[in-house]
Amino acid sequence: MGSVAQAFNAIFLKEFVAAFFLTMRYFFGQKSTVNYPFEKGPVSPRFRGEHALRRYPNGEERCIACKLCEAICPAQAITIEAGPRRNDGTRRTVRYDIDMVKCIYCGFCQEACPVEAIVEGPNFEFATETREELYYDKERLLANGDRWEREIARNIAMDAPYR
Ligand code: SF4
Ligand code: SF4
Repeated sequence: MGSVAQAFNAIFLKEFVAAFFLTMRYFFGQKSTVNYPFEKGPVSPRFRGEHALRRYPNGEERCIACKLCEAICPAQAITIEAGPRRNDGTRRTVRYDIDMVKCIYCGFCQEACPVEAIVEGPNFEFATETREELYYDKERLLANGDRWEREIARNIAMDAPYR
């Protein structure tokens, strides 16, 4: 009986020591977690986050109100109204809304756009406290474009060789 207990103790001690060193290895090794929101992991150039409407470098809106994005959206989340612009008569949107509650982040709007106007940018931190805040209008979308243009342009350039 005593030898059985000794054998059991030896096995237990061996397993304990192995587990201890395994724990220490991970304790001092590279962490698998990040201290969000103070630290953030890398985001793929193909990440489909918050929508934005882009401008050309001269400040002109890219969108030509072709409505392809509205037509292709499977969630029917996009609502566009178009009309001639007062100063030069070019076709522009007078209303461009996205219901972000309906959106399923499929990226079809971005794929359909012939002028890379509507894009899903890299921002994933746009949670709100009310549903109303997720009804985006043109002003909000253009502001997003202005804010994220550098990152959006870089991501499009990085992804271009694979298209
Ligand atoms: S990502 Fe998809 S669901 Fe969302 S607005 Fe674009 S086309 Fe519609
Ligand atoms: S965002 Fe692009 S696809 Fe949508 S209406 Fe404007 S130009 Fe057309």
